[in-house]
Amino acid sequence: MSSRPVIIAIDGPSGAGKGTVARALASHLSFRHVDTGAMYRAVAWKALHDGLDLSNAAAIAAVAAAARFEVNSRIVIDDADVTAVIRTGEIDGAAAIVARHPEVRRVLVERQRAYGREGSVVMEGRDIGTVVFPEADVKIYLDATPEERARRRAGDQAHAASRGGGVDSVAAALEARDRSDRTRTVSPLTVATDATYVDTTGVPIADVVARVLAAVEDALARRQRG
Ligand code: C5P
Repeated sequence: MSSRPVIIAIDGPSGAGKGTVARALASHLSFRHVDTGAMYRAVAWKALHDGLDLSNAAAIAAVAAAARFEVNSRIVIDDADVTAVIRTGEIDGAAAIVARHPEVRRVLVERQRAYGREGSVVMEGRDIGTVVFPEADVKIYLDATPEERARRRAGDQAHAASRGGGVDSVAAALEARDRSDRTRTVSPLTVATDATYVDTTGVPIADVVARVLAAVEDALARRQRG
């Protein structure tokens, strides 16, 4: 078996269950978990904190390039622990704006690839199987209906600060962000042709985890044989 790090890519829209599934897989396999959405969120937070205009792609790319990140169970950028403050409605929107800049993506994608070179990872995001690691060992695309995703997001403790207006306002914000993520010109959210597509609508999260884990173990066993 090759000693090259194993890359597991988990993509999909907000509220599809990526975080829960990625964390469970990483813990089960003893791999590192990298939440790339948190990197876009941290950069957006820092840009706002520094008073930058979110349309200033070059300045935000410079922030992303210079940032010292910790992307583990806590999210830290340049010594600021932003774990809680990046899960707000304001940062939801700001992250989707900075993620549209090709200059910012180039920097963060390169940093994400570096994590993959350091060791085996479960990496979650929007473009992991399509752009960051097109050669990933396993690609999973998690999805659910917009209604179900909004319900989950509205009940999510980590996003409690953005829950103010109830499910309807969460649904509207989620739809706007989905549209931005799916229609941007660089790395739009799409299903990789070789990804396993999992519709999680109405499926208890424990069952989703079990199903994805079975697909991953199958793929890893094949890799070991081949
Ligand atoms: O996954 P999460 O909702 O935390 O991501 C926040 C935003 O970051 C997304 O709406 C998307 O615009 C951006 N993102 C991205 N590519 C990734 C991960 C997140 O464009 N790989």
